[in-house]
Amino acid sequence: MVPLDDAIAHILDRCAPLAPRRVPVAVASGLVLGAEVISTEAVPPFANTAMDGYAVRAADTDAAPVTLPVVAEVAAGHPADRALGPGEAMRIFTGAPVPGGADAVVMVEQTERLDEGRSVRIAVTVPPGNHLRAAGEDLKPGERLFGAGDEVTPARLGVLASLGVDEVVAHPRPRVGVISTGDELVTGSAPLRPGQIRDSNRPTLLALVAQAGFDPVDLGHVPDDETAITSAIERGAATCDAVVSSGGVSMGDIDLVRVVLDRIGDMRWMQVAIRPAKPLAFGLVPGPEGTRLPVFGLPGNPVSSMVSFALFARPGLRRLAGHAAGRLHLPRLPAVTDEPLPRRRDGKVQFVRVTVTADAGGGPLRVRSSGGQGSHQLGAMARADGLVVLPDGDGVAAGELVTVMLLGEPATA
Ligand code: AMP
Ligand code: MG
Repeated sequence: MVPLDDAIAHILDRCAPLAPRRVPVAVASGLVLGAEVISTEAVPPFANTAMDGYAVRAADTDAAPVTLPVVAEVAAGHPADRALGPGEAMRIFTGAPVPGGADAVVMVEQTERLDEGRSVRIAVTVPPGNHLRAAGEDLKPGERLFGAGDEVTPARLGVLASLGVDEVVAHPRPRVGVISTGDELVTGSAPLRPGQIRDSNRPTLLALVAQAGFDPVDLGHVPDDETAITSAIERGAATCDAVVSSGGVSMGDIDLVRVVLDRIGDMRWMQVAIRPAKPLAFGLVPGPEGTRLPVFGLPGNPVSSMVSFALFARPGLRRLAGHAAGRLHLPRLPAVTDEPLPRRRDGKVQFVRVTVTADAGGGPLRVRSSGGQGSHQLGAMARADGLVVLPDGDGVAAGELVTVMLLGEPATA
């Protein structure tokens, strides 16, 4: 058996980021930058007020309370047309440029409007800089903002917009083809004939691909037939950046995904020391123009295919998408188990389907088994928020600390 970390390293070594290109910022959300972004402008572009109130010279408030004439009104987008003189005040609104000559703002709550607004009584002494936001206080021209490998998040989009950047260099979103294999599979709601089951892996894997931020491409369901599997994988190789298949990677004679990948590509079949999801066929197959694209031959059992996707395909595909090395894997966090999680010694790391609850009071995450742990029991996977990573041994007792890999957002209690 291959240790989990070796299997992951083998895959990551063979998944290279897709070539970055210039893309409009408008379509860059969720993409990963392929080059650093340097700030070209100061943000804010000019000194402005953080508060509604009165722009003054701080020194004029030294003898507060003082009454000053109000000589103008400045609002956001409407700069003053003259500078503030000594002994004067200007009414000012949040975001408005601070007029020349002013070096402080007194918030409106500390003032009293007099003479129908022609003058103001200032109740407090304020220091220079009071409630001012200096030009460049957020971002400075020439400053390195983001690097290659950084995802374009909503906040980063905001930064790019505040600088007027309209194009970035980013890796394309990987197109990921999904195939399911098996003579027993049927799609849709028609009554099952003897021996048939419904194809649940394809919709699940297509949704996992989309959830991870890639473009899913449905390559359909193929029977256990070498020619059919070959043409489905080749169709994927011609139109996608990677292919994920389920089924046909175990030891049996009809496990033809393994056979096909070995014939058309450069394939490694692994028995990974984990449960579920032990068998895995990972191959590189020829794509257009001399490219080689990764094919993840995941096992067919529904829970196994999902766990295998989380452990192997998702990180490999995130590498294709350009994510930095520290951002490939699902997060693993400490948690306390509220019940025993027994297991037997078998040389494998076990991934236990659990519900995860976050303590609103700030305590540790709590986990509980989400149900039957068979690799065919998708029900427990469907109730799970995470997978407890249970090292080889006899399991853990209630109250013990465990490591949980989060699959989604935990509930809060
Ligand atoms: P295999 O990996 O092809 O040997 O399949 C292992 C188990 O998973 C068998 O019980 C299959 O019937 C089941 N299985 C394979 N593919 C799917 C699928 N797409 N949806 C649901 N179950 C599947
Ligand atoms: Mg099969």
